[in-house]
Amino acid sequence: MGQLTGPTNPTTDANWADPQPRKGFFTDTSICIGCKACEVACKEWNHNPRDGDLQLLGSSYDNTGSLGASTWRHVAFIEQDGDRIEQARESGRALVGLGMPAVRSSAAPVDTTPPDTAEFRWLMSSDVCKHCTHAGCLDVCPTGALFRTEFGTVVIQADVCNGCGTCVAGCPFGVVERRDDGTYSTHASRPGQPEAHTEVPNHNVAQKCTLCYDRILEGQTPACAQTCPTTSIKYGDHDDLVAQARQRVGELHAQGMTEARLYGANELDGVGGTGSIFLLLDEPEVYGLPPDPRVPTADLPRMFNRAGIAAVGMLAAAALSFLTGRGTGRRR
Ligand code: SF4
Ligand code: SF4
Ligand code: SF4
Repeated sequence: MGQLTGPTNPTTDANWADPQPRKGFFTDTSICIGCKACEVACKEWNHNPRDGDLQLLGSSYDNTGSLGASTWRHVAFIEQDGDRIEQARESGRALVGLGMPAVRSSAAPVDTTPPDTAEFRWLMSSDVCKHCTHAGCLDVCPTGALFRTEFGTVVIQADVCNGCGTCVAGCPFGVVERRDDGTYSTHASRPGQPEAHTEVPNHNVAQKCTLCYDRILEGQTPACAQTCPTTSIKYGDHDDLVAQARQRVGELHAQGMTEARLYGANELDGVGGTGSIFLLLDEPEVYGLPPDPRVPTADLPRMFNRAGIAAVGMLAAAALSFLTGRGTGRRR
């Protein structure tokens, strides 16, 4: 672990001798259609078991609910009425008024008709590990099971993880989870055929998105981005993606969608910015994302300073007590 907070290149910070350009995602939720192809592609490529019995939650067209040990991409479905849409636009206007970065599109005229209705909309968003610049999961892991790759991403080595779960508490986004279910059932493919019970891989160890480390080592695109039919998930060099994302926000603002905003692109935030950045159409909380994520180790220098001051104070008090005690003894 090198620098604990603030802007940095995580790959050079991890002392890679041959760092590669930082890789990441730009997930543009404004063009997600909620098809869940990304969820399925991730499960297929990584041999992750299904979560539950594929029942809808009852609150939306969602059956997984959140990221987890076996769901490394999760597509949220959020239903909004006209009032909520207007509130989102208002809060977006306030951000622009506060000087949030936005790039105006070029001289070409733009269609300023918002592409959604004013009365109703679905927000669909494919969430994933953020591959943080300062990754709480990695910083607190006691075994070194989590490591920073040469692409600046964060990967768990299942054979080194001892299942202690410290990383689960260290992640400010609630992404990483220990896989604690030992078997799963597959439905019978024919009537009368018994269900099969299959051993789940990596039982009892922490699990999360690897940003398809195995694929990007071979120069391939991660499975989720490769399969997304609308290009809502874009993969590439982190700096290029941030530039694309800023331009896209500017285009949406020009179309009247002032609610468009970026999440994770600010390197001055509590995690030094993220490798996975998102274009959202409402406040982060609406998508279940923390509005102000902070890596737990960011406070370590301040805590050490305070502990040092407290230790000096205790030593001074002990010395004073000793000297005072000796003086009292002499008087007796
Ligand atoms: S989002 Fe959580 S699990 Fe992913 S790199 Fe950041 S701290 Fe680790
Ligand atoms: S990058 Fe790979 S591991 Fe991560 S969500 Fe996409 S398909 Fe899954
Ligand atoms: S594959 Fe693309 S369009 Fe489909 S749910 Fe995932 S991000 Fe959305």
